[in-house]
Amino acid sequence: MTETWINLSCPRCNKTWSDSPTDLPDLDTEFTCPECEVVATMAEFLKTSRDLEIYKSLAD
Ligand SMILES: [Zn+2]
Repeated sequence: MTETWINLSCPRCNKTWSDSPTDLPDLDTEFTCPECEVVATMAEFLKTSRDLEIYKSLAD
């Protein structure tokens, strides 16, 4: 199994980090920033369209 990481970016504090998509919830699920604790949907934390595509492909 290939380890794939996606880049996340907080829409409020701009904290960026990487995480394994298998540890993350669905795109429309609310997620809490570990830094500023803002709550937004998972999709809003995805930094680039590439990360979004990876996320979608792994969700199938
Ligand atoms: Zn934040």
